Amino acid sequence: MTWTVRSPATKEVIGTLEETNGERINEMYASAAQAFSTWSGLPISERIRFLRKVRLQIIEELDQIVKVISDSTGKVSVEALTTEVMTVVDSISHIEKRAAAALKTKRVKTPLTFIGKRSYIEYKPRGTVLVISPWNFPFQLSMIPIVEALAAGNAVILKPSEVTPLVGRLIEKLFTQAGLPDGLLQVAHGGKELGAALVKGKPDFIHFTGSVRTGKIIQTEAAKQLIPTLLELGGKDPMIVCADANLERAVQGALWGGFTNSGQVCMSVERVYVDKSVYQEFVDRLVEAAQHLRQGTAADSDIGSMTFPQQTAIIKEHVTEALDKGATLLAGDHPDKWEEGQMFIKPMILTNVNHGMAVMQEETFGPVLPIMAFETEEEAVALANDTRFGLNASVWTADLERGKQIVSRLISGNAVINDVIITVANPYLPYGGAKEGGIGAYHGDVGMQGFCVQTAVMVDKGRRKKEVNWFPYEGKYELFVRLIRSFWGENRNWRGFLAAYRQLLKKESRK
Ligand code: ADP
Repeated sequence: MTWTVRSPATKEVIGTLEETNGERINEMYASAAQAFSTWSGLPISERIRFLRKVRLQIIEELDQIVKVISDSTGKVSVEALTTEVMTVVDSISHIEKRAAAALKTKRVKTPLTFIGKRSYIEYKPRGTVLVISPWNFPFQLSMIPIVEALAAGNAVILKPSEVTPLVGRLIEKLFTQAGLPDGLLQVAHGGKELGAALVKGKPDFIHFTGSVRTGKIIQTEAAKQLIPTLLELGGKDPMIVCADANLERAVQGALWGGFTNSGQVCMSVERVYVDKSVYQEFVDRLVEAAQHLRQGTAADSDIGSMTFPQQTAIIKEHVTEALDKGATLLAGDHPDKWEEGQMFIKPMILTNVNHGMAVMQEETFGPVLPIMAFETEEEAVALANDTRFGLNASVWTADLERGKQIVSRLISGNAVINDVIITVANPYLPYGGAKEGGIGAYHGDVGMQGFCVQTAVMVDKGRRKKEVNWFPYEGKYELFVRLIRSFWGENRNWRGFLAAYRQLLKKESRK
């Protein structure tokens, strides 16, 4: 079937695309397995060479890539360039530098009780990784898992979001142009049925980014076949503004953190808690600053359109419910005034909100900032943690020690002090969520290692006939008791330990 793809911002046709026939899935897994057998055997330096070519290809086609992302999502060009393309090239560059060290076999210590043996961990690619990605950052959230998985030696099948399919095709083209071996990265263009069929096709690992609802479905399906997964899910990220914060920076941080990408960001600012003593000033300044944001499709617009029409219905529902329950709308338009199919939603600021409202509990995923005042730090932490999510959080204070202490009390996969969103862009840090924010983490060394099977290895030179704890056990119980007491008891008694060990050795050599 051929899809006609329209821009969410202008509603104009921006391209057509052939959907992948579900009957090709077996063939795709077979090609991936074949490509994997060669790719996984290449030295990491060779694999990195290909990834470098991908990076240079991206730089070569920067403007065209930005245009495809921007046309497909409605996000403004500067955001497509910085939050998608720049993050990806930095990530590839990081992997080029770091992958060899992260994936190198690692020697670890061996306890004295295993004297003479050596231990190490080896990282081996898993096989075929299925990457299922969403529409809000369709380039970044596809490319980074792909590149990490490839660096680790896997083959990849990407199922990009059907909401932004031209970005999937763009990625496919990039890897072909960079000369990546056939079958190593395949893109399956289609909707959730195709995604579900790919999960059933038994990949060796599933990397999923998307909604909690779909994450649960995928986890359930994966469990039936015991396929390991990594899930990057939702957030309802709190921002805590203390009385001593640099208020102008906090206002600007809330403005950008809440409204970038029209709030369609799982790491964004989604709930704001401000110390009572600076609450009114914060709200006034934020409302004033929001008036100056320019929305549209111009090259230098600040805020673009929504990407997915259905998301506007969720925003409408949350905001209407809050207003019905007594919230005050200080910026933006009442949802009743929105036109049918309107994709440019003016940034909204809500006060008089509480945790009984969906806007403070559910993922609104839109340009909405609900703000509450708090009286004590204790209360701020309790409110921030009162969520089923736990992806990101921010704390604003001039006292960095206090900021760190508050962060320590937050249940969150990520946290920032006097900044927003940013941890996801530092490739040295792992990226993953707590609670319904997700399961597992990628990025950083642990991310690359996550795309591997770890083999824990111990080596013995094999010269001795046998070990002291092997059969027969005759007369060994008491000796082991002495050995354990003297080695792990309150005061370590080396003599007692060595005496027991020697006797055990003697027994062994006698047999
Ligand atoms: P969103 O993109 O709004 O977060 P989803 O979580 O539903 O929404 O979608 C994320 C990705 O998961 C998309 O690529 C979508 O096609 C895919 N998907 C949706 N449902 C399933 C499913 N049951 N099995 C596999 N993939 C799915």
